[in-house]
Amino acid sequence: MPCEAAPTPNTKDRFTAKRLTRDEGRHLLTDAPLLELGARASEARFARWPEKVVTFVIDSNPNYTNVCITDCQFCAFYRKPGDREAWTLTVDEVLAKVDSAASKGATTVLLQGGHNPALPLDYYLTLVRETRKRFPQVTPHFFTASEIHTMAQVASLPFTDILDRLWDAGQRTIPGGGAEVLSTRVRSRIAPKKGGPEAWLEVHREAHRRGFKSTATMMYGHVETVDDLLDHFDAIRELQDMFGGFTAFVPWSFKPGNTLLEKWIKQYKGPNMYLRVLAAARLYLDNFPHVQASWFSEGKPTGQIALYFGADDWGGTLFEENVHRAAEYVNTISVDEIVTLIREAGFTPAQRTTEYEIVRRY
Ligand code: SF4
Repeated sequence: MPCEAAPTPNTKDRFTAKRLTRDEGRHLLTDAPLLELGARASEARFARWPEKVVTFVIDSNPNYTNVCITDCQFCAFYRKPGDREAWTLTVDEVLAKVDSAASKGATTVLLQGGHNPALPLDYYLTLVRETRKRFPQVTPHFFTASEIHTMAQVASLPFTDILDRLWDAGQRTIPGGGAEVLSTRVRSRIAPKKGGPEAWLEVHREAHRRGFKSTATMMYGHVETVDDLLDHFDAIRELQDMFGGFTAFVPWSFKPGNTLLEKWIKQYKGPNMYLRVLAAARLYLDNFPHVQASWFSEGKPTGQIALYFGADDWGGTLFEENVHRAAEYVNTISVDEIVTLIREAGFTPAQRTTEYEIVRRY
């Protein structure tokens, strides 16, 4: 598909006159009047992207294994090695999923899985290489930071060597999953075997240094405090100042179904908190080009409202998704429905690539 250049941002990096302080961030996340906050975030969004265009990507999120040794408290997806419900796909089975997504028009496949120590490095590299070779129209948006650490441990190599080998195999973007909340306190409580914030940050830092692009995610609504959220914002804003390698910020709320945290946290945070986080992020993360509305995790009406709280992107079609499904949270959408919902919200829909180049306006 031919690509046209994405709309040019007004400035390459920071676009607010004055960087928000931590105290100002705290005010946005706690007691700023919600609709005023949304109006400010929307103003910042249009200052960077003046056109009333909302982008989306045609994508799929398959998984290659549910085997994992990391036991995150918030995860309903994984099974321990040897569990009768554990499964691992062969390279050909994963490529059949890429083929299926490509046949439906996908330009992005976000592939992730558990931390399965039985998988050799060559498995991952073959997936990247063969996806590039057989499906050139698809960007292999594969493997989160913690999976890259797992590959490094299994192969007894530094994680930077893994990044180099993934690059050589043809990978250029990395998904931002596994950040949860980048606070030592939160991560040691909900994902103690995953390492502190630096475990996620160092992979993205070294990836950006090499020219990879990635996203920054945040899963909130469990054990975090406002200061933990601000730690997260500060960490990714600081990293973005170094290389500008993040394409987008993508927050979503924790879904407790079937997780070890479920007995403490029964209900996920509602749309008001989501819109507050999103708008605060648009203002605080002044060096992030894109902020994504998560129709998938927050619901389609909230996704539409999010377009007035600083979001300029609708996320993807997610033809396949298994992680939230394991927590009994299911939501689906078609390209036609995305186009209708974006138009109904008052914007022009535009299909984009993984790296936010526009391929088609509707
Ligand atoms: S979130 Fe990922 S690393 Fe944690 S238990 Fe689930 S599959 Fe494993």
